[in-house]
Amino acid sequence: MASLSLKNICKVYSNGFEAVKDFNLEVEDKEFIIFVGPSGCGKSTTLRMIAGLEEISSGELIIDGKLMNDVEPKDRDIAMVFQNYALYPHMTVFDNMAFGLKLRKVPKDEIKKKVEEAARILDLEKLLDRKPKALSGGQRQRVAMGRAIVRNPKVFLMDEPLSNLDAKLRVQMRSEIASLHNRLGATIIYVTHDQTEAMTLGTRIVVLKDGVIQQVDSPQKLYNEP
Ligand code: ADP
Ligand code: ADP
Repeated sequence: MASLSLKNICKVYSNGFEAVKDFNLEVEDKEFIIFVGPSGCGKSTTLRMIAGLEEISSGELIIDGKLMNDVEPKDRDIAMVFQNYALYPHMTVFDNMAFGLKLRKVPKDEIKKKVEEAARILDLEKLLDRKPKALSGGQRQRVAMGRAIVRNPKVFLMDEPLSNLDAKLRVQMRSEIASLHNRLGATIIYVTHDQTEAMTLGTRIVVLKDGVIQQVDSPQKLYNEP
């Protein structure tokens, strides 16, 4: 389980720019939180602070009751999926998916088991020896997802994971993400510009503007559904 508590979180970049201002949010276990808002409103910055990739300037990040501000990214039990997939081009699909586990010194046979299981779930079994450049966009996206799920993290952070896919694939992956969420019982924070994604996936939607939360509501309320 994973509940997150973001208390008065601020991000001031070293050039003085305030990208996130007094961000307050309580995320319950197994929630699927969506961040929406115009480009530059602080969505990625907030995800990166939760992942530990960006320092929190002030405020507290608490996960399952533990203060996380100074915990190393690799010790956070959080996996992040990026828009550009961020795969290692010189590594095979298998090695891309195994990378985070190797980093954490998981035994080899266990790595093999976890990667093969994820490959089965994501229909990548026949592609494990390929390099990213020999994959389609949708397959690369699955590898990025696989790299996250092999770690069985408490929290998934996804930064527009489907925005580089064509419309048909986006619809397919959207339902795959929904079923992964149910199956894994994970807590997810997900950035998107796509209203259909926000409506179909989200338990709650956080609307950001200029680094400030404008509204937090269920998709039904936010989009005036009956
Ligand atoms: P530092 O300046 O201490 O290296 P920063 O996090 O402020 O750390 O900057 C990281 C990099 O991002 C720097 O090279 C900086 O020039 C660059 N950068 C500055 N402004 C922006 C911006 N508006 N958007 C994206 N990157 C930026
Ligand atoms: P979003 O994900 O909502 O598009 P970001 O979190 O990437 O927004 O960026 C929020 C704001 O912070 C933007 O105005 C961006 O230019 C600025 N920014 C991002 N990285 C840096 C940096 N390293 N240094 C200074 N400003 C940055």
